[in-house]
Amino acid sequence: MMKRIFALLIFQLVAISIFCAGFFPQKKVLKGDATFLVESDLQSKAKPVFNKLVLVVIDALRSDFVFEESKSHFFHLHSLLEQGNAWGFTAFSNPPTVTLPRLKGITTGSTPNFLDAILNVAEGDSSSNLNEQDSWIKQFVNYNKTIRFFGDDTWLKLFPLEFFDEYEGTNSFFVSDFEQVDHNVTRHVPEQLMNQEDWDVLILHYLGLDHIGHKGGSESQFMPAKHQEMDDIIRQIYEHSDDDTLICVMGDHGMNDNGNHGGSSSGETSAAMVLISKKLQNYEMPTQQKLAQLPIKDTNPSYQYLTSIQQVDLVPTLATLFNFPIPKNSVGVIIRETLQLLDDKLLTVKVQENFQQLQSVKRTHIDADEGFENLDAAFQKMRDVQSELMRSATDYNYDFLYLGLGILLVSTMVGMAAGLKQMRFEKPFFIILTISLIVGLSSFGSSFVEEEHQIWWWIATGGVLLSSLYTPDKKSTHLTILICLRIIRGWNNSGQKHFYENTIFEILKRNPIQQWYLNFFTIFSLGLLQGDLLSFLSTMLISMLCFVYKVTWAIVNRETVPDWMYQVALKSCFIITGSVTDDVFEESLVPLARFFFKCLLGSIVVNLGVAKLTSKKSTLNSICTSLTMLLIFQSPSSNIPLFLAYNTLRKSLTTLLVENYGSGSFITSITSLVLQYFTFFHFGGTNSIATVDLSNAYHGVSQNYNIYLVGFMMCLSNFVPPIYWSIFTWRILYNGNQKWNHFSHNKLTFFMFNCISGCALLLACLILRFHLFIWSVFSPKLCYYAAWNIFMNLVIGWILEIPLLLMN
Ligand SMILES: [Zn+2]
Ligand SMILES: [Zn+2]
Repeated sequence: MMKRIFALLIFQLVAISIFCAGFFPQKKVLKGDATFLVESDLQSKAKPVFNKLVLVVIDALRSDFVFEESKSHFFHLHSLLEQGNAWGFTAFSNPPTVTLPRLKGITTGSTPNFLDAILNVAEGDSSSNLNEQDSWIKQFVNYNKTIRFFGDDTWLKLFPLEFFDEYEGTNSFFVSDFEQVDHNVTRHVPEQLMNQEDWDVLILHYLGLDHIGHKGGSESQFMPAKHQEMDDIIRQIYEHSDDDTLICVMGDHGMNDNGNHGGSSSGETSAAMVLISKKLQNYEMPTQQKLAQLPIKDTNPSYQYLTSIQQVDLVPTLATLFNFPIPKNSVGVIIRETLQLLDDKLLTVKVQENFQQLQSVKRTHIDADEGFENLDAAFQKMRDVQSELMRSATDYNYDFLYLGLGILLVSTMVGMAAGLKQMRFEKPFFIILTISLIVGLSSFGSSFVEEEHQIWWWIATGGVLLSSLYTPDKKSTHLTILICLRIIRGWNNSGQKHFYENTIFEILKRNPIQQWYLNFFTIFSLGLLQGDLLSFLSTMLISMLCFVYKVTWAIVNRETVPDWMYQVALKSCFIITGSVTDDVFEESLVPLARFFFKCLLGSIVVNLGVAKLTSKKSTLNSICTSLTMLLIFQSPSSNIPLFLAYNTLRKSLTTLLVENYGSGSFITSITSLVLQYFTFFHFGGTNSIATVDLSNAYHGVSQNYNIYLVGFMMCLSNFVPPIYWSIFTWRILYNGNQKWNHFSHNKLTFFMFNCISGCALLLACLILRFHLFIWSVFSPKLCYYAAWNIFMNLVIGWILEIPLLLMN
């Protein structure tokens, strides 16, 4: 039985992998480098408008950070915008709004490939590089220009190193640091500005602002200082530049209010772009900017400040201003305001060039003289072609799609048959079937996918209602369960459409002292196990370490903590590092976290060993407690008290399941399944890449980190609630000698759910593959589904549980 279910699971994972391989294929790109298409003689002899480019990418620089009065502290840049030496734009950043795909867009002008968003996380991948693809970087290299690069090392993974005459990469994945990462870029700037004759293109990519966002949201108290730091760098570059230098300051994408990005909300897609040059004041500034007074006083909820353009428009604009052919795969349209920098003859040629080049991407031939009557018509046509090209981003591999779906359908049939055999036509079978169908059908509607937390709320409360009808004598238990569910629901924002100010999470964030007393109570009331001396001592140590670490982490992030907790953390950090400097908290984070992990592992091993020797029964309890501490350790601090609600809910459910449902393995598994999804969403998770939490993936990780370890910890911190509710079944199902039977029943339940809902999801992706939201809504959902199956079902469900069952 167990072997068969495992084989089915592997079968299912293979099906998902094949489907994903067909759904996220490599995009077909036009090979080779572009050459001038129109009047190439005239164009090759023309003098470029600028001869030096400084590109300053400030990661996650949202439009309002630069243009809006209450948010922006780019004071010097505001005065440049007012004088007309700088032209500001809101540049639409095509989702997935993650650095790697955006850099591809900014340099090649092409539309993104969703797979890049995943490759952005999976480092060291060579399939995402741009050695072969045409880009403005490559065009500069072809024209023998010298390029220097300092900043986010994603650039160095994208382009061959020989493209750069001098470079230094900073790591983009160490999100907890936002000072050093930028100093490492800035320290190169003075030297480069002194020796400007040595280079033609200088690229700087700053990550600090993005890291601040991930850590503290868009309104973090570190933002103003970071804006000013960046503003000062722009001022230095500007003051050292001459008339023939173009400075472009831009964000690769924006962020939402929580400081995350990846999705398609207006905050994430609205990046700032500013073109700066001393030359610009001789020309007419963009109309919108002429009418506005900078910084702009009125907040714009859709983040559209000044003129809105596409981020990829930078590509043909640079090609035009620096006089080289527009990169082959670009879908950009020249920023129209910049055309006035060209002389009249060249202006028409450059527009024709852009027009022809867009047509060649569209792969339709048009006669050379069938062009356009006037500039307005040309721009209208080009915008039309652009939006058409942006919509049809990829070619799917249909063989893979059908094969993947086919295999999944077959394994679903087999799984259903096995389920019927085990559950017969009894209640659990119909319950799991109903839940799977509801969730499966919901994947056809984009709003249902975005707001999936609502579905789980109705399933969970519906389940409580059913159970209370079935066991009417358990009124108070059901009431407790309902209250817990309601508290959990009110804790975090979930879904992608609404943002509530008054969730418990936000309220606790505004009242840090109360929050920390609650955290203290939570950690010690859940962490301390009574019983024998050994488990008491080991859980005491783990709880203390967990608490001290979380407080230290909060202090490093400049959160407020009660004074006595500050002193406790200070003393503990002193003991750990022996240091009395101001950086003692920061220095202790890594050793503290490592010490915590070692003690945790040690206590589990000791407990298992003692249990083996004395054949005592309570090991599961202490292992579950240790693991709960690990989950708390990997959670954001405002979510820690949520574990009190989890614990109360767990106790009530256990009583109910044991006393009224005879510890039934199927019904226990269904309860666990519903709660895994319900709590995942109400922990702050969504089906968008934007809510992937990176800030808890670096505990105990030093500068030379291991990507696999960080990846594992990232999964761990994002699946904290599902892991908790997966562990919940252990104490009910794995205590007696029926444990292997229960184990396979449990896996069968999850398998049925994943197959049925998965078939529907894959079918939805297939049918809706040309839907407007396919990249922003359905593809991320598919990624979550795949991640859930691999991490929760394979890693946690099998690889973690089997050894535990063997030893217990
Ligand atoms: Zn970025
Ligand atoms: Zn980021």
